[in-house]
Amino acid sequence: MRIFTAALATETNTFSPICIDRRAFEESLYAPPGEHPETPTLCTAPITVGRKVCREKGWTLIEGTAAWADPAGLINRQAYESLRDEILDQLKAALPVDAVVMGLHGAMVADGYLDPEGDLLTRIRDIVGPDVLVCAELDPHSHLTAKRVAAADFFVVFKEFPHTDFVDRAEDLWAIAVDTLEGRVQPVMSVFDCRMIDVFPTSREPMRSFVDKLKAIEASDPDVLSLSVIHGFMAGDVPEMGTKTIAITNGKREKGEQLAQTLGLELYAKRGTFMMPSIDEKQAVSQALGLVRSGVSGPVVIADMWDNPGGGTAGDATVILEELLARGATHVAVGMIWDPIAVQICFAAGEGAEIPLRFGAKSAPGTGNPVDGLVTVVKLTPNAEMRFGDSIAPFGDAAHIRLSGIDIILSSVRVQSYDPSLFTALGLDPLEKDILVIKSTNHFYAAFSKIASEILYCSAGTPYPNQPATNPYRRVRRDIWPIMADPHGIEAA
Ligand SMILES: [Zn+2]
Repeated sequence: MRIFTAALATETNTFSPICIDRRAFEESLYAPPGEHPETPTLCTAPITVGRKVCREKGWTLIEGTAAWADPAGLINRQAYESLRDEILDQLKAALPVDAVVMGLHGAMVADGYLDPEGDLLTRIRDIVGPDVLVCAELDPHSHLTAKRVAAADFFVVFKEFPHTDFVDRAEDLWAIAVDTLEGRVQPVMSVFDCRMIDVFPTSREPMRSFVDKLKAIEASDPDVLSLSVIHGFMAGDVPEMGTKTIAITNGKREKGEQLAQTLGLELYAKRGTFMMPSIDEKQAVSQALGLVRSGVSGPVVIADMWDNPGGGTAGDATVILEELLARGATHVAVGMIWDPIAVQICFAAGEGAEIPLRFGAKSAPGTGNPVDGLVTVVKLTPNAEMRFGDSIAPFGDAAHIRLSGIDIILSSVRVQSYDPSLFTALGLDPLEKDILVIKSTNHFYAAFSKIASEILYCSAGTPYPNQPATNPYRRVRRDIWPIMADPHGIEAA
């Protein structure tokens, strides 16, 4: 067997002011054929798992380019087209092939392309013809367009959010591909449109039990090859945005359609109950100060949950910091605020210097105001990095400044706050602080829950379009919940 694999992925928040070009891919991950490292990144596990599978089978794996850019705004047209055509040319040169196994994210939007993955998969299908297997791994925060479903044989989607299972799902993808190529199964993909958009953390109920149930069905029903939920990505203003369920059966179309519908309507019935409850910045600071006064052991963590660079925002909002300053809070550390210009100024001033500085809130409306003050430059760390599980997340040259008893980390690379080691990288002991402010929606939880006395989810300002009922969409369909109360007409019936 000859199998072609490649990856092209990022997550586009169409409301984000941070547009990206080819250089943004090259800075995050750009691996020409054969040069992908041994360890996978989020959307490239089909390549590393494929190497192992093909080695064991004695098959030929032809690697194309792998490119990933950190989540941000619109992709430059030339950047998308050049990466797409690079992969398509590699595929043409690899022909004939028996299968194409792709690593995608599924939420790209490029200038001139509302559905880049649909465009890419359709062009792949046109090149290989109707009889060659085409499949891909997807992130659940994606848009499952009809064009994609028509072009591919099947998709396997990460089940967990946080995405701890991207390697496991790449193994599922390859297992189904191998069984298909060896004639044991005939995958049929069925999709149900839940006509809703929601956020589904699997670290809490009710989504935890739902994912466990999907796995139990997969393990017990021999007709079912794979079950997935496309959560949808509410920051992508595209026509087919929304939640969908996928059932892949072994040739049982009717059963797959029934199953996708039953599971999809179960999610629909629970709409609005999946997300953790959040509070605003005034409530968050009051609650945090109250907890500190009551003598909790360990820092109170305030998650600035929507100013999350992992969701494509700039990560420079100051709304919570302004509230803390207004309330005179001390023994607080903020990790972190993206401001490469302020970092440059701090590096020029040097450690120990006291300087007037303006920082934060420069990139988008709804993120508070730039903070002005006489700050002390406490520590400067070139090429700072923090841990993220078994890997490392760099956040560039970083400055630790102090203003009115609050320690603030300024970064020059946008990244969410994964781990308390971001503080120690700048000489701060997070355990010595009463309050830690971080920027992340959900990925921070695993590491910060180990040191926090309490975690407060704070929705501060409007850095991210997190209210689908009122987000200023131009292209999203109107007949989905919560834009419409009951689009399936179930409660009325
Ligand atoms: Zn995701």
